[in-house]
Amino acid sequence: MITLSESGVIEKIEQCSNLDSIASLEFYSGILAPAMVNAHAHLELSHLGGVVPPQCGFSKFAQCISKSRNLFSEDECHNAMDFYDSKMWDDGICAVGDISNGSGSFETKRASKINYHTFLELFGLKSCDKTRLNKLSVVASELGLSNSLTAHSTYSLNCKDFDDIVQSNVEGILSIHFMESEGERVLYDGFGELHSWYVECGMHIDFDKYDSPVDRVISTIPSSRRVLLIHNTVLLESEINSLKGHFGDNLTFVLCPRSNLNITGEKPNFRLFSESGCRIALGTDSMASNSSLSLIEEMKEIEGVPLATQLKWATECGAEALGVGDQYGRIEIGRRCGLVLLESVDLIEMKLTSLTSCRRII
Ligand SMILES: [Zn+2]
Repeated sequence: MITLSESGVIEKIEQCSNLDSIASLEFYSGILAPAMVNAHAHLELSHLGGVVPPQCGFSKFAQCISKSRNLFSEDECHNAMDFYDSKMWDDGICAVGDISNGSGSFETKRASKINYHTFLELFGLKSCDKTRLNKLSVVASELGLSNSLTAHSTYSLNCKDFDDIVQSNVEGILSIHFMESEGERVLYDGFGELHSWYVECGMHIDFDKYDSPVDRVISTIPSSRRVLLIHNTVLLESEINSLKGHFGDNLTFVLCPRSNLNITGEKPNFRLFSESGCRIALGTDSMASNSSLSLIEEMKEIEGVPLATQLKWATECGAEALGVGDQYGRIEIGRRCGLVLLESVDLIEMKLTSLTSCRRII
């Protein structure tokens, strides 16, 4: 039995032998878990559901987003953000690592019951405005939003801008889109879909002096930085080990399987990550590449990993990655972690079924 204070802090956890004798008791079948942590989302893209055709490939996806993200009214954008913020809360999510390119999502996040960490993201091969990001950081902080500056990816920033972001503000957490497609790797060898797109647009890159995206990350990001690497769809075992060797416990691999399936039709090798000894968290990415922002739906796509491990990824690991591990992710006395009920679980095989749902209890 779990006893909570009025403000939702766990005060007591105890075994109860006389449950049947408690009046007005309701019984539910399922798994009780702490509320979940969505370690990678883009709330500000919530209005883009259905805009990008599925499995169009990675560079087409990126092109489609940049063309369509500003075709909607401010009201449409805000209504979509409010809707998906509430939906995430109802679906049992208590904290989110959220990418922002502007301030459009700040008000929704400020008013939310969810604990957001905002990653203010720098990207652009032609021009980057870090000053704008610094101003956004001040605005976010004034609204009480936890935030840090981050680099978008290892393919969208030239050396000076990437190095500047990853080597300054060293206390801040980084969240970098990483190895989502083979195109990111072979760009460094001078071919592939990203390379063709850049040639077509006349965009110059200077980071191909590194052997690979992994080499670039290890060569430029200090090992003391806390880093979330997002996607990792095509990451190899040797690369996982190299990154682990450099960052140690400061590293979290965030997997977003439904987004990967939607864009490229591929999924990460879950077993490889599970056996790596690294911290793994889960994210939904945005509505532009997903049909919902539900972590239980992400878990349904994971194969070869015990349910208990998946739940740890969706709760404790995500909370640690976002620096809120002392409040969320574990059912412990003194925490305000929230409680969710997973229903329609196969409790004999301990597996999720297609009908499994997750709803908030507290
Ligand atoms: Zn993303």
